[in-house]
Amino acid sequence: MPAAARDGTAQSGARRRLRALRCHLGQEGAAPELAAAASAPAPTPAAAERPLDAVIVGAGFAGLYAIRKLRDELGLNVVALETGNGVGGTWFWNRYPGARCDVHSVEYSFSWDDELQQEWDWEEVMAAQPQILEYADHVADRFDLTRSIQFETKVVGCAFNEATEQWAVTTDRGDTFSAQFLIGCVGCLSTPNEPGGANDIPGVDDFEGPVYHTGRWPHDVSPEDLRGQRVGIIGTGSSGIQSIPVIAEHAEHLTVFQRTAQYSLPANNHDVDEDYREMIKGNYGPLRELAKKSPAGFITGFGGRTSATDGTHMPEPQMYAIMDMTPEERLEALEREGFELFRQLSDVGMSMEANAVACDLFATHLRDVVHDPDTAAKLTPSGQPFGCKRQVMDTDYYPTYNRPNVDLLDLRRGGIKTVTSTGVSTEQGDTDLDVLVLATGFDAMTGALLRMNIVGRDGESLDSHWEAGNHHKLKPS
Ligand SMILES: Cc1cc2nc3c(=O)[nH]c(=O)nc-3n(C[C@H](O)[C@H](O)[C@H](O)COP(=O)(O)OP(=O)(O)OC[C@H]3O[C@@H](n4cnc5c(N)ncnc54)[C@H](O)[C@@H]3O)c2cc1C
Repeated sequence: MPAAARDGTAQSGARRRLRALRCHLGQEGAAPELAAAASAPAPTPAAAERPLDAVIVGAGFAGLYAIRKLRDELGLNVVALETGNGVGGTWFWNRYPGARCDVHSVEYSFSWDDELQQEWDWEEVMAAQPQILEYADHVADRFDLTRSIQFETKVVGCAFNEATEQWAVTTDRGDTFSAQFLIGCVGCLSTPNEPGGANDIPGVDDFEGPVYHTGRWPHDVSPEDLRGQRVGIIGTGSSGIQSIPVIAEHAEHLTVFQRTAQYSLPANNHDVDEDYREMIKGNYGPLRELAKKSPAGFITGFGGRTSATDGTHMPEPQMYAIMDMTPEERLEALEREGFELFRQLSDVGMSMEANAVACDLFATHLRDVVHDPDTAAKLTPSGQPFGCKRQVMDTDYYPTYNRPNVDLLDLRRGGIKTVTSTGVSTEQGDTDLDVLVLATGFDAMTGALLRMNIVGRDGESLDSHWEAGNHHKLKPS
């Protein structure tokens, strides 16, 4: 799909087709542009003639798979409703500089069709956002999934009628869909923490320059647009850590506002070479099987040097038991392996003593990599064991702090008071900025589901059902 069709402005043929579908489904509140769809290809007879079986909410990877599975394999009549004006979910919305997958793309891809696997070529081992979005577009077109999606439609209410055993799904466009099945493919990281939300930062609305949330990065702003700008970024989670090195390369000056330091490890991303490509394409079958049997669902590792496996075995890096090593041996291993050592410690997850030793070694290595001792100290995590948060992956994150145009403000030494019209005011002083980036993350896991205002049996809302914590059928007890 051409870029123009995804950039928030263009009218794709697919979009027109979907509006036509919507018209055939006889919904209320049809948009005026429906007239423009008059010449678009007709929807499938199934969609027009039969009542819906399922409403799928979201057209990210999960939504695309749900359409494929329910419509094409089970023969159900489905519609997918999507807030955005394109497919891809995470990769449609997160267009910030440096956004990329941090698992290997051969595993972050659909496995249902071998021709798809064979025809698609990943450029990098861990693809960047534009190529993942291109892939999602390709899959949607290739399997004709788009005709079942209605874009620019946000689900705002879902009520279950016990008498008819049907869901009534209402949207922000004023239409209502009725179906037996409601499939929430709304994403676990799709509702950004924006000003006014739970992680509110006062004064953001007063800032006179542009404010970009990484999870809603404007489609027409590229890193080049940050040239000559004084940029501030709040947040050093995964999105912040991916974007900071790229923004630093382009901005005149970058100030990073850090609340929590992370244990970040190098992603070791690189271009896909011919040998790797051939090996993967020749072994997709065993690779997928091995992934299914692996504890976390992927085999090539969460970042790391391992770039490939022939599908017959799990890659096995050299492992070290840190408590079996002398202090000198630990330092030698650190010298030899660098940050990779922290992927290879067999006992850090088993013993707090071993974990504390690893944390000390991490701090030692940071002091080697980051030249300014005070900056290295600010970047050193405290109060959290290694490996207890989701592992963050980076490309040149720590060395970025050796650049003369990058400053790190440790908010543990004095927090943000307010954003002002010209920058950010903290208890440590004021920073003038031209652009403010919010890498403040998401209302994770339940945020998007709760915003659908789901009301189930006995008129109970999901909100109240989960009042004491979210639980569901598949939750291990
Ligand atoms: C920056 C970033 C990087 C990531 N990197 C990785 C990675 O490397 N590896 C990995 O395994 N995972 C990664 N993830 C997690 C990622 O979210 C999942 O891998 C996957 O993309 C989720 O797919 P999904 O279809 O479930 O949800 P999403 O891709 O989030 O799609 C959900 C869709 O639902 C739509 N939606 C939500 N609510 C509504 C509503 N009420 N009405 C209509 N539409 C709605 C949204 O607009 C969105 O398009 C990353 C996440 C982020 C944010």
